[in-house]
Amino acid sequence: RYQKVLEENRKLYNQVQDLKGNIRVYCRVRPFLPGQPNRASTVDHIEEGNITIIAPSKYSKEGRKSFTFNKVFGPSATQGEVFSDTRPLIRSVLDGFNVCIFAYGQTGSGKTHTMSGPPELTEEGLGVNYRALGDLFLLSEQRKDTVCYDISVQMLEIYNEQVRDLLVTDEIRNSSQNGINVPDANLVPVSSTSDVITLMNLGQKNRAVGATAMNDRSSRSHSCLTVHVQGKDLTSGSILRGCMHLVDLAGSERVEKSEATGDRLKEAQHINRSLSALGDVIFSLAQKNSHVPYRNSKLTQLLQDSLGGQAKTLMFVHISPEPEGVGETISTLKFAERVSTIELGAARVNKDSADVKELKEQIAGLKAALARKE
Ligand code: ADP
Ligand code: MG
Repeated sequence: RYQKVLEENRKLYNQVQDLKGNIRVYCRVRPFLPGQPNRASTVDHIEEGNITIIAPSKYSKEGRKSFTFNKVFGPSATQGEVFSDTRPLIRSVLDGFNVCIFAYGQTGSGKTHTMSGPPELTEEGLGVNYRALGDLFLLSEQRKDTVCYDISVQMLEIYNEQVRDLLVTDEIRNSSQNGINVPDANLVPVSSTSDVITLMNLGQKNRAVGATAMNDRSSRSHSCLTVHVQGKDLTSGSILRGCMHLVDLAGSERVEKSEATGDRLKEAQHINRSLSALGDVIFSLAQKNSHVPYRNSKLTQLLQDSLGGQAKTLMFVHISPEPEGVGETISTLKFAERVSTIELGAARVNKDSADVKELKEQIAGLKAALARKE
């Protein structure tokens, strides 16, 4: 019995440790949309962290291609299930880590669904953004006798290498302004999920400005919800700061050169450039290069302090089930698999988080008990 508890603890301990310094990649497959005719999915099968795609001969002689990630969520995975594997990362923001969560994939693959939720939001539909903040509120409340936390958010859009503050209204234009990366973007204090919903709605409304029916710019811009956490230890008075970026990236699809002209071509070039800049930063961190090209794009500049050995990163890679899109799907999965195999070195730990400390103690206790038994 001891052995079993010890095993379980060790697994949990490894899970917490695992989150440090690595980029984790979770793959999520969108279901077919209601109203679409029933047909075969491009996904052949999913087995734990593996996903196998039916690939035409052009892509694979065997007619199949497999990819491995930290986790694969099939089309029936719920928002709650997806979030439950994200939770430990969120928790670490309150321990002073920087965290970055991305949604990557082609337009229509489910990025916004994962990060925010479906257009008609219900409780079950709430995406990672809302759930993450909900967890932060809950945990900070639980710790309120020892640490006093302040939580505030910024919401930005990057479109054609221009950064736009999405939280601008007459009322909050003059609220405290001390964001870390974009000094004059509004940083708005929040204390409940309903505060967050109000702000997200405002952000969505501001984001829609400039979009037309022909030009839904949300798929061609990156949007970033940044959460700043400041915790004051009530005994020692020391302050710790954590920061979390939740990023809904622009669609990763390659635009056919022949199809794109004018504004569309310019947008496509900016997206290609900023997504490759993101890749360049990640791969350069992996190779421990002394120069990391953060300054090559607004996106990587914005995320600079949350990308790299000091931070924890999670990428949700999204794919669509439609066989017509298999070319995009394969290139998405290839990029993501490359990202998932790299190690960025240990994240900075100021001290062991409460979780790790507790687990270490438990493991030591159990080992001793086991030794006594033998
Ligand atoms: P993206 O942001 O990548 O362009 P969306 O999140 O807007 O894609 O998803 C495209 C459509 O598919 C939307 O109508 C969305 O509600 C729906 N959708 C995406 N993922 C899921 C899912 N896991 N379950 C149900 N519907 C989904
Ligand atoms: Mg979207």
